[in-house]
Amino acid sequence: MCTPKFRVAICGGGIGGLCLAVALSRHAHVQVDVYEGAGRFKEIGAGVMIWARTWRILELLGLASHFAKVTDTPPDPAVAPGFDYRRSDRPDGFEWNFIAMPCKLVDGCIRFHRAHFLDVFVDQLPAGIAQFGKRLVSYEKREGGEIGLAFADGTSAVCDLLVGCDGIKSVVRAQMLRTKAAEDVQPSLLELIEPRWTGTIAYRGLIPSTDLPSVDGVTHRTLGSPMMYCGEDKHIVAYSISQGHVVNFVAFASEPEKEDTEYGAEWVTDCTKDEVLECFANWEPEAKQLLERVDNPTKWGIHHLQPLPFFVAGRVVLMGDAAHGMSPHLGAGAGQAIEDAYVLASVLAAATPSSLDAALEAYQQTRLPVANHVLRASYESGKMYEFNSPFAEEYSTLGPAIKRQWAFLTESTPEGEAEKAVGILRSQQGQ
Ligand SMILES: Cc1cc2nc3c(=O)[nH]c(=O)nc-3n(C[C@H](O)[C@H](O)[C@H](O)COP(=O)(O)OP(=O)(O)OC[C@H]3O[C@@H](n4cnc5c(N)ncnc54)[C@H](O)[C@@H]3O)c2cc1C
Repeated sequence: MCTPKFRVAICGGGIGGLCLAVALSRHAHVQVDVYEGAGRFKEIGAGVMIWARTWRILELLGLASHFAKVTDTPPDPAVAPGFDYRRSDRPDGFEWNFIAMPCKLVDGCIRFHRAHFLDVFVDQLPAGIAQFGKRLVSYEKREGGEIGLAFADGTSAVCDLLVGCDGIKSVVRAQMLRTKAAEDVQPSLLELIEPRWTGTIAYRGLIPSTDLPSVDGVTHRTLGSPMMYCGEDKHIVAYSISQGHVVNFVAFASEPEKEDTEYGAEWVTDCTKDEVLECFANWEPEAKQLLERVDNPTKWGIHHLQPLPFFVAGRVVLMGDAAHGMSPHLGAGAGQAIEDAYVLASVLAAATPSSLDAALEAYQQTRLPVANHVLRASYESGKMYEFNSPFAEEYSTLGPAIKRQWAFLTESTPEGEAEKAVGILRSQQGQ
């Protein structure tokens, strides 16, 4: 018997939206349309890392062999590179977090050039399901449960289910919260619409590995292991991508007293190398060697969301940064978006038009607590790397505390989470 079709509109073709589109397009009973506001799929920024947990999802989706071709480091428990932590805000830096090595416990971090990462999803997308230049402006619930979509170019579309994957400035989230605030007379929900500035800026850049100095035949440390250079109110994350040919760095500088104030500038701008160097002037030489060699650094205002109390309202659902845009300190935002996509695709694969509400509830019950936990943990981790947490500079307790922040990676399995969600769906249907 042929299961009846329902139409899923995916608003936003970033990592989250495209992963969902690829996963859902395998199910004949789901019609998938991707509406991307930009003129093409694109990623800004340089490197992205995922953990073994996310790699497992890519395996479950049958995509791992494609990603293996573009990663620096396919997962290998025998090697399992993790971060080395150094105290670097002084000329004589030293390694300090030799206790935790958190990433080594989870089979290492798997690194990519962002453009290559997104391209794998783009290549797997069936022809004809994506439309470009379709910037969603608003949606409306219609008679019979259909949802009408209005785009900035004056066109419209309909669907049975709208998935907001439109990033941290999500239009879908804004309308969902405004509607709920009015319906439930809960004005406090309006405060959750706008992302908040964390008080941190990030300088990002790429450096050809051949530009980095070798000393007595020893290559720059970032070519051997992902590095976390830590200092007061600042830290630098650096790791190799593109099969070791390029080193990606993100150099963070925080003014904790400015947290939750207006950022007051474009979130992403170009900046000069001198600005970056000045910011890290007294840092140890191996950290400065990175910054001295960057050609076109960019400057990012790091924003995050307050944890949302729901990801679903009627037949509208949020995922990825639209649901839980987080600071990047656990390297987890993209991984969480992929996990949302995997769990949502699993419940929708098991759903029919009449069980869509139950499927969305199952997605929400499974994903909301975990994603919100990672959002909070990311924020706390940033404080820890900059010695601004309750552990201050107490290395012996700070190291293990940093390690614990990554516990979410191993506390469950992705397939277990998907099974849990499908179980919730079935129990709501009395099966
Ligand atoms: C400095 C930094 C470093 C990071 N490093 C890592 C890392 O190493 N590992 C990791 O897991 N995560 C990392 N992240 C987080 C990660 O980049 C994000 O969590 C992830 O890209 C979110 O994907 P998304 O698909 O939810 O949203 P986005 O990537 O923001 O995609 C949203 C898409 O929606 C489109 N869109 C927006 N509005 C509309 C609209 N109205 N209508 C239609 N389309 C629309 C956009 O054009 C875009 O294509 C980092 C983030 C930062 C800032």
